[in-house]
Amino acid sequence: MKRRKLISGGLLGAAAMATGCGSKSRATGGSMVATGKVVRWRLASSFPSSLDTIYGAAEVLADRVREMSGGNFDIRVFEAGELVPALQVMDTVQTGAAQIGQTGGYYYTGKDAALAFDTCVPFGLNARQQTAWLLEGGGLKLMRDVYADFGMINFPGGNTGAQMGGWFKNKVESLADLKGLKMRIPGQGGKVMDALGVNVQVLAGGDIYPALERGAIDATEWVGPYDDEKLGFYKVAKNYYYPGWWEPGPNLSFLVNQKAWDELPADYKAMLEAATREAATAMMTRYDAKNPAAWKRLLKQDITVRKFPEDLLSAARAAAEELLETEAAADARYAKILAEWRVFRDDSFDWFGAAELAYANFAMGE
Ligand code: CA
Repeated sequence: MKRRKLISGGLLGAAAMATGCGSKSRATGGSMVATGKVVRWRLASSFPSSLDTIYGAAEVLADRVREMSGGNFDIRVFEAGELVPALQVMDTVQTGAAQIGQTGGYYYTGKDAALAFDTCVPFGLNARQQTAWLLEGGGLKLMRDVYADFGMINFPGGNTGAQMGGWFKNKVESLADLKGLKMRIPGQGGKVMDALGVNVQVLAGGDIYPALERGAIDATEWVGPYDDEKLGFYKVAKNYYYPGWWEPGPNLSFLVNQKAWDELPADYKAMLEAATREAATAMMTRYDAKNPAAWKRLLKQDITVRKFPEDLLSAARAAAEELLETEAAADARYAKILAEWRVFRDDSFDWFGAAELAYANFAMGE
């Protein structure tokens, strides 16, 4: 297989020995650590390099693994479209053409609807809750069972935090205003919007602005201030809505081909896993550090920030619950995941609804 040919003791191995890494590893003999083996992987990202928040986390991962392995474990990062189109990352990891991918599980709900839980579902968990569910609440085990069907293992890889509801050319004053509205919104959020009468469009990042500008769509969602500002939506749609109830805390994932993972020496596995945690922290903290300044800049533009009307939020929440029920009825594993996830969500909402919410309302509210 192609992938095997990429694993060789070439130039990088020699360079590692010059740094002393190779000799140290030999001293540990037959133990499971520091083999000095040269491993070269390709990482296919679903995101453009212009998103220094998300794509930047893949670079953090590659840099840290390279540093920890003395250069022996080398991961080359490819942005969306470079190796494969953005939404083919999971397929590429499955075939092994890229050993690792950076993407969102919810792009692949056509393969298995339960993959939405790996990222987020409408009215679901916020970033901290999603991370807690995956890493400490049993979520990762449930998700790994789904990804195993596709010959891969997943690692949580960062979060955007609660997203904004997006850019609307016209005001949305009630649920009725959604009827026939042409909006770019992918995934589960799109399904809920469809149920509410929206004419749902799915467009890749680069195609949104021109569609909005020429009126092919009336509204779009993207991420939040820092990323939205770069795409310039504020120039052509003047109503900036919140909250992005369909993405309250979306987790992006690193997907690793199971065979490639199995072939890694134990120390490289530990390095990779640690680096995914560091990459995840980099993503979330970059958003939290960069969004406030971008928010301030956007507020100086000729735009109006608006909250979605209550009747829209209530109807969307009801439609989202119905969607979860429908999908659970069609798939026993989905139903099991939903049942466990709901217990976690409800308990987590109870707790966050106490101290965190009271603090936020008092300190950060209007
Ligand atoms: Ca979004």
